[in-house]
Amino acid sequence: MAGIYVHIPFCKTICGYCDFFRSANLAHREPYIQALHRELDAACQYLPEREIRTVYFGGGTPSTIAPERYTELIEHMGRVYDLSHVEEITLEANPDDLSDDYLTRLADTPINRLSVGIQSLHDDELKFMNRRHTAKQARKAIETAQNRGFDNISIDLIYGLPCSSTERWSKNLQHAVSMGVQHISAYHLGIEPHTRFGTLHDKGELMPVDEEVSHEQFRILREILLQNGFEHYEISNFALPDRRSRHNSSYWNDTPYLGLGAGAHSFDGASRRWAVGNLPRYLRESGTDAIYTTERLTADERYNEYIMTRLRTCEGVNTEELRRKFGAQKLLNFERRCRPFLEQKQLQNTAGHTFITADNLLISDSIICELFVG
Ligand code: SF4
Repeated sequence: MAGIYVHIPFCKTICGYCDFFRSANLAHREPYIQALHRELDAACQYLPEREIRTVYFGGGTPSTIAPERYTELIEHMGRVYDLSHVEEITLEANPDDLSDDYLTRLADTPINRLSVGIQSLHDDELKFMNRRHTAKQARKAIETAQNRGFDNISIDLIYGLPCSSTERWSKNLQHAVSMGVQHISAYHLGIEPHTRFGTLHDKGELMPVDEEVSHEQFRILREILLQNGFEHYEISNFALPDRRSRHNSSYWNDTPYLGLGAGAHSFDGASRRWAVGNLPRYLRESGTDAIYTTERLTADERYNEYIMTRLRTCEGVNTEELRRKFGAQKLLNFERRCRPFLEQKQLQNTAGHTFITADNLLISDSIICELFVG
């Protein structure tokens, strides 16, 4: 079954590290929702299968939009696709939007999973990142959401912060675990061009942490979360039993999905397309094909993507599935390229699955690139 992703690009302020497609022009919110409805009507034939398993409202900051607008969008999706078997509808939210009133209204919508951008539970770190909320607000938001009946909550955390330390990261994790959430996504800070952090870095005023610090914080991340019953199922993602993100898991499993909104990507099983990442153009042209760029993937691109997404997960590459999908020649090639990494114990092969060993997940990109073809 397929998934639907909806991009809500609005943010009240811009975080220092953010290179996502987002806009601080909140005045466009209402016309944007109308544009999403137009795009949804036009995309009614896009997915090869009608049944939708997951819906994900990501951003940006989806919690800048009133809950009632989501009910309307989901009802519209239900007229276009079959939502009768939908299992998970996630909303990304920022803690400062999650007031008692907002959460009470949200509990009346079909949304059954929250992904809350907490990032840190230390106020000075939040300030450093230009986040709007405080640690107290973050804790209160989770508690209120739980009191309003949300029992599938994920939080995002960031490590590798130059202003932090390994001890403070460890405290962050302990606080996070004590909040009783079901899922934690932890990302290493990236210093990207065209962000405030990128500018500071270019001026020599902000440096990434040393590699050893990154590795130590990643080790602590695994240690604390595994001790507390979380499984590490993808490089950046940890879940309590049966609480993996179903929507994100389907990206890693070749499931077709429809992306709605400016900059959103879609995949129909054979080709990808993405909508223009330009708000005025999206508002003007949504509902027409003029907003899309489409790319048909070559066999090698599909293979490389398969290797990349599978090796980010703890299950890794199922070699029999690889042979079935891409043929015996590709499997031989894969096994040959894996050999040096298996010898160095950076890869492991168990029960027909080849995966990156836990100590090497943080350098997974460099391993994966060596396994690509073409
Ligand atoms: S809230 Fe999220 S999308 Fe918005 S600026 Fe911050 S990191 Fe970027």
